[in-house]
Amino acid sequence: MTKLKPCPFCGGEAVLEDCGPYYGEGRFFVRCSKCDIVQEHLWATKQTAIKAWNRRVKDETD
Ligand SMILES: [Zn+2]
Repeated sequence: MTKLKPCPFCGGEAVLEDCGPYYGEGRFFVRCSKCDIVQEHLWATKQTAIKAWNRRVKDETD
């Protein structure tokens, strides 16, 4: 599985969260374990959540 890049804001470790139990199906988002920033979007698969997170990291550091 693709690795998560560090948080674009604090450089902390990013973690993949699964809120499926609350939504009744797979819903994933990425959260920073340090500053607690979360993706504003829920994703259907782990892979899309990771891709979106990594893309945003790139966008914001360019
Ligand atoms: Zn952070």
